[in-house]
Amino acid sequence: MDAHGAIARISLAAVQHNLQQAKQLAPSAKAIAVVKANAYGHGDLTMASALKDTADMFAVARFEEAQKLRAGGIRQPILLLSGFLNAAQLEFAALNNFHVCIHEFAQLDVLEKTPLAAPVTIWVKIDSGMHRIGFSPEQADSVFTRISAIKQVVQPVNAMTHFARADEPEQRSVTEAAITCFQQATAGKVKHTALCNSAGVIAFPEAHGDFIRPGIMLYGITPFGDKQGTDFGLRPAMNFTSSLIAVREHKAGEPVGYAGSWVSPRDTRIGVIAVGYGDGYPRMAPEGTPVLVNGRRVPLAGRVAMDMTTVDLGPEGNEQVGDEVILWGDGLAAEEVARHVGTIAYELVTRLTARPRLEYV
Ligand code: PLP
Repeated sequence: MDAHGAIARISLAAVQHNLQQAKQLAPSAKAIAVVKANAYGHGDLTMASALKDTADMFAVARFEEAQKLRAGGIRQPILLLSGFLNAAQLEFAALNNFHVCIHEFAQLDVLEKTPLAAPVTIWVKIDSGMHRIGFSPEQADSVFTRISAIKQVVQPVNAMTHFARADEPEQRSVTEAAITCFQQATAGKVKHTALCNSAGVIAFPEAHGDFIRPGIMLYGITPFGDKQGTDFGLRPAMNFTSSLIAVREHKAGEPVGYAGSWVSPRDTRIGVIAVGYGDGYPRMAPEGTPVLVNGRRVPLAGRVAMDMTTVDLGPEGNEQVGDEVILWGDGLAAEEVARHVGTIAYELVTRLTARPRLEYV
């Protein structure tokens, strides 16, 4: 096999399966597929295209992300989850069926002052305990009253909230309080509700509401830190791979890599993988983080560099230049790698750089 650099192989069938799983968990709700941040690193337009027959809506975080999906032929409504739109953007949003999340009074001012050629659909964000964006339950009534007077808004409006701790089983009461808070602030005043991220979809069926907003689970990854996607019938979509570009005999007592931080306790063989933080593999991955070489688990040895990462292959074996390495994916869950690194699998997949090739299978 030829040695190659990092490739993220992404299964479209897995992503389609995962959306079906979310829909099965929430059979009475419609599904807003969250494809922000380049679909968590998986390629936003390709993911949205793969889901266009099953997702009722899409959601992104930035106006430009929504524009890209529209320009790429995605026809469903696209929810902008956060952020301020100026008058020109608001006009574009209305004409292009972007649904706008209103979470700040400054947005209401623009909405009131901007003449629109088409009515715009609004989701009012209620702060049910995250305390990041959204209107407090005390503010909600006056916001609904103010919006109901705006002619160019589709009436009645919708409402959404976002859970801060739905991924923590021992904190159920926090999410239960958030659900109650949201329901009290919106009952009888809105058309549609949307509360649930992936953790909510899985763990809080009573909160499914009219629309669910799954993100990470679409990519086969669980929001629950000590679990993995397969525990919930999800199929990991991304196989992040590279290959060996060198296999070296290495003497006991000799260091490997920058700062000589790892010194081999025995004679061994070092495999050099064509992947580094220049691809998005985390520089903070500590020694001992597993990778799969030809399907065999071996530990990182030495620091992750920009273009290369070294592993201890052990004294015995027949690995060769060109052999396949899985950084995460088949046989090695991104969640497990994330635990070694001290981060979440969301971050691992989302921060791939532009260098790895995305291949769809
Ligand atoms: N809804 C909102 C408002 C979000 O910000 C996010 C992601 O951060 C999601 C839904 C999807 O969350 P998850 O990826 O945990 O399913």
